[in-house]
Amino acid sequence: MSTFLFDKTVFGPVMSRRLGVSLGMNLLPNNRKVCSFDCIYCECGLNGELGDNKDVMPTRMEVKERLAAKLIDMQKEGLKPDVITFAGNGEPTLHPEFSAIINDTIELRNAHCPEARIAVLSNASRLHKKEVVEALLKIDDNIQKLDSGLKETILRLDQPNYAFDLEKTIAQLVDFKGQLIIQTMFVAGELEGKDISNLSDADINSWLDALDIIKPEKVMIYTIERDTPYNSLKKVPLDTLKAIANKAEKRGHIVSVSG
Ligand code: SF4
Repeated sequence: MSTFLFDKTVFGPVMSRRLGVSLGMNLLPNNRKVCSFDCIYCECGLNGELGDNKDVMPTRMEVKERLAAKLIDMQKEGLKPDVITFAGNGEPTLHPEFSAIINDTIELRNAHCPEARIAVLSNASRLHKKEVVEALLKIDDNIQKLDSGLKETILRLDQPNYAFDLEKTIAQLVDFKGQLIIQTMFVAGELEGKDISNLSDADINSWLDALDIIKPEKVMIYTIERDTPYNSLKKVPLDTLKAIANKAEKRGHIVSVSG
C-alpha cells in the first residue's frame, strides 16, 4: 500500500483526529524514516523502504528558524494551532538535540501562540536518556506508545530494533508519575498467514494491568487511518474500540477513542 513521508520539518497545520488543529514537527530527515521501532502498521512505511538515505536530520537552528517563520506566517493569517506536535518520519526523541529543540519550541510557543499545547508522540524507546525524560516533563502532552501488555505482541507488531524489555519500559513510564498519556494502536488482520491482532483477552487484560501500574493521565486508543505497509492489516471496528475503552474506564482511566 502507499505509505508516505513528511517532506518538511514543519508541516501543516492539519486537523488531527486526536489533538485538534496541529502544527506538525518532523525532526527526522525529509526523505526517509528513522525509528527505533519498525511497526508493521507504520504510515511512513517500513524502515529503509523509502528515501535514499542521503538526507540528514535538521539542525536545532534550522528547526527553530522554520518553526518561528511558520508561527509568524500563521499569526499574519490570524491562525493559531491548538497544538505543536512532534511526530513526523519516525521517533522524534532520536534527534540528538531533542532536549534543546523542546526548549526552543517552548520559547517560540510562549511568544507567538501561548495557548497552544506542545505534544510529543513517542514510542517510549529513549526513556533511559535523562535529558529526553526531562524534556518530556516540560511539555503539555507527553504521549507514549504501549500497544499491548504482552512482550511477544509488541515484538510482532512494533518490531523494536533493540533488546526490548517490557518490564523496564513500564517502570520508565511509571517514573513519569502520571505526567503522560498512553497511546495504543489496535489492529486486526494477518501477516503471512498469522493473526497479528492485539485484541486477544490476554493482550487486553495485560494492557489494562499495565495501565493500572503506569497510571497515565489519559489513554488514547485508535486504529489504522491511512495506508500501511501491508494490505492484510485491518482497521478495528469502532464498537470494539469503545468496548476496550469501557473496560479501561471501569478501572478508572480516562480514555479517548479515535476510530
Ligand atoms: S513508532 Fe511510530 S514512526 Fe516508529 S515505526 Fe512505529 S508507527 Fe512508525
